[in-house]
Amino acid sequence: MIAAAEHEHPPIPEIKCIGVVGAGQMGAGIAQVAAQSGFDVQMLDVNQERLDAALAHIKRGFSRLVQRDALSEADAAHALERIQTGLDYAIFHDCELVVEAASENEQLKRKIFESVVAAVKPDALIATNTSSISVTRLAAATDRPERFIGMHFMNPVPRMQLIEIIRGIATQEDTYQAIKQVAEKMGKVSVTAEDFPAFIVNRILLPMVNEAVYTLLEGVGNVESIDTAMKLGANHPMGPLELADFIGLDTCLAIMQVLYEGLNDSKYRPCPLLAKYVEAGWLGRKTKRGFYDYRGEVPVPTR
Ligand code: NAD
Repeated sequence: MIAAAEHEHPPIPEIKCIGVVGAGQMGAGIAQVAAQSGFDVQMLDVNQERLDAALAHIKRGFSRLVQRDALSEADAAHALERIQTGLDYAIFHDCELVVEAASENEQLKRKIFESVVAAVKPDALIATNTSSISVTRLAAATDRPERFIGMHFMNPVPRMQLIEIIRGIATQEDTYQAIKQVAEKMGKVSVTAEDFPAFIVNRILLPMVNEAVYTLLEGVGNVESIDTAMKLGANHPMGPLELADFIGLDTCLAIMQVLYEGLNDSKYRPCPLLAKYVEAGWLGRKTKRGFYDYRGEVPVPTR
């Protein structure tokens, strides 16, 4: 019965062009990897400067790969040519898949999906790179929950191997299979996570980061001792506060809020010191200040 019902839907188109909403650290990384994997890319943001900065960042990424002999100069040039940018949703007209990677804010994402739906073909797939928000709820903000899915890339996208794939309650099997194939074509390994707040990686990782900020707030250690302790004592490649700066403190806070509210458990309460850094606009590496100050040659702890 289910198979018969699924046949009534038009088939999933072959994915050749991928739209990306948001040209921040994740959007730029997704665009880079998609173009390098042979997809055409249309990247959109609300401001041109972000798009220019993302393109410059991608160019530097390709140059590094060429220097390391991981990519030929010709392939890098072709990949770069495949990336187009724009401020108008009309750029998504020919995309078979649009991946949303704008800021972690549900209201903002809902508005974006309204615009995406109005711009893309009826059979196009829509994915969200949300770190924590319910895929089912975001899907319900579109006209095609069966063609909507969570595609959670890791930061930095070109270097991290994993993509978490999250099905909403209505996501169809052929949508899931098509996204798995896109992940494979991008050279990534995918794991499937159920649609619960923050999925797998961030459900485990972010409470640790949040606890590190409590450890700092309570004076158990300072920035340096906490990061050194976790690097040398737990063999983590990065300390938790360094990692928080890398992720973005606004994103960390938003994920903790989703965990706290979504699971109704006080063990996920966001640390007030994390909130204070966000209120100060100290969002980590992307604003050059967070638990470390990145304005000089070497990062200096801010506490
Ligand atoms: P970021 O702050 O670097 O970039 C967000 C981008 O979205 C900015 O360029 C901003 O101009 C743009 N934007 C804001 N409103 C927009 C709108 N209405 N339309 C189009 N663009 C808009 O953030 P990021 O770290 O790239 O995170 C983006 C998404 O990826 C979030 O949902 C986040 O949770 C998720 N994510 C982040 C990480 C991480 O480690 N940072 C990892 C996985 C997933």
